[in-house]
Amino acid sequence: MQSDGNFVLYGRESCSCRREDDTVFWSSGAMGSYALILLRRNGNVAIFGPSSFSIRNTQLHTIMVQMVQRQSMMNGARLQNVIKRVAMEPGISCWHCFHCKGGSYNLCPDMKFFATPPIHGSLADQVVHPADLCFKLPENMSLEEGAMCEPLSVGVHACRCANVSAETTVLILGAAGPIGLVTMLTARSFGAPKIVLVDVDSHRLSVAKKLGPDAVVQVSTNTEDVNNEVAQIQEAMGVGIDVTFDCVGFSKTMTTALTATTSGGKVCLVGMGHNEMKVPLTPAAAREVDIVGIFRYKNTWPLCIDLINPGKIDVKPLITHRFGFSQDEVEKAFETSAKGSDAIKVMLNL
Ligand SMILES: [Zn+2]
Repeated sequence: MQSDGNFVLYGRESCSCRREDDTVFWSSGAMGSYALILLRRNGNVAIFGPSSFSIRNTQLHTIMVQMVQRQSMMNGARLQNVIKRVAMEPGISCWHCFHCKGGSYNLCPDMKFFATPPIHGSLADQVVHPADLCFKLPENMSLEEGAMCEPLSVGVHACRCANVSAETTVLILGAAGPIGLVTMLTARSFGAPKIVLVDVDSHRLSVAKKLGPDAVVQVSTNTEDVNNEVAQIQEAMGVGIDVTFDCVGFSKTMTTALTATTSGGKVCLVGMGHNEMKVPLTPAAAREVDIVGIFRYKNTWPLCIDLINPGKIDVKPLITHRFGFSQDEVEKAFETSAKGSDAIKVMLNL
């Protein structure tokens, strides 16, 4: 079934829907340059599901499972149950290309990533996964917390790429969604002294406010409001905005980001809402505002575990719903996640 270095992961506990991409595929059948071939698990068709989950001995984007290490059958070794709890990093890169050899394996053109067509998602009761992408969880770290390493990894990678430090003021647009929230929690853990959150959803902003930003600002979806809203945002920050994370990726949010960020600052585009945007790029370039692109993450699981386990980052408030693993329950989970409202992270209990 598999060779040395792979784990067979048996689902036992929970996984979670990743709202930003799994439910985008669920509702629209496409995201960015990726298109979903089939939406349902059914014989040989693509398995839809979380891009990762965590296992009781390993973690998968957001699934908790029991991991069984299987030794090589070629040398007659006996099947060995390890019974470890792990968190799984969902992307399997080639390890041979220029990007992989250079350390940027997240940019590998041959990446095989859970739930990114044509690769199956992880909504299955067994998953085979490379051992080097399975990270042992500390005894006092729950499987649900382990599952949260995946979304938190997006925040960690974004903050690393934007060089967030104890001297960096941070603005987050689309802050009330899961990725906006993990970006905020990460920026805070990196020492960011002042963080302002912006979103269009008042309910979600009120939830986000409890997680510790210095200020929140509600905005509209109307592009004509940008200048007034930028003034509100800058007033809320009180000092220059060093780094802005756009966790939405729409023309309006990028316009706001490029306008609000201080000269010489950075705009990190995290969300992938629009493939093409109309934004005031020239004025931003004339103020030396850099645009930083990020794609997924690399080498983030160990740090995520180190941030979650000692309580430097509390991810539990982000888990708002839990469902079972039947077809009906899974459909409800995705519907709940896609609907938004009060759902942040939705866990599936296997
Ligand atoms: Zn590669």
